[in-house]
Amino acid sequence: MYKNNIFYKIIKKKIYSDIVYKDKFFTAFRDINPKAPIHILIVTNFFIKNINNILPIHENILGKIFIVAKKIAIKEKIHKRGYRLIINCNKDSGQEINYFHMHLLGGKFLGSII
Ligand code: AMP
Repeated sequence: MYKNNIFYKIIKKKIYSDIVYKDKFFTAFRDINPKAPIHILIVTNFFIKNINNILPIHENILGKIFIVAKKIAIKEKIHKRGYRLIINCNKDSGQEINYFHMHLLGGKFLGSII
């Protein structure tokens, strides 16, 4: 039941999180266990389990996530040096939380992962 999901509870402000951005479709908050000086999670305000559950009706809304990521990167002043966006899907990626989210990482040289 997605209403018990920790990210859903954060969106609904049932549990505290350091929220840095909110609009009609997305909420963004700082990762509790940051892997970089700036580590923010951008989540949809409506439940999607992961990329495998994205439907054609989500297409327009999810396109906007890149605008949100860019806005936050500018606000956090990491846009010029650069940053990385990551979306995990299922076990092999290491997805821990079954609620669609995009990681925004920056604030240091991240190196190469591929
Ligand atoms: P993923 O592996 O893509 O599912 O990433 C889940 C992320 O959620 C991890 O980086 C965790 O550190 C982060 N996380 C888990 N619980 C919380 C929380 N209560 N507030 C903020 N971030 C969290």
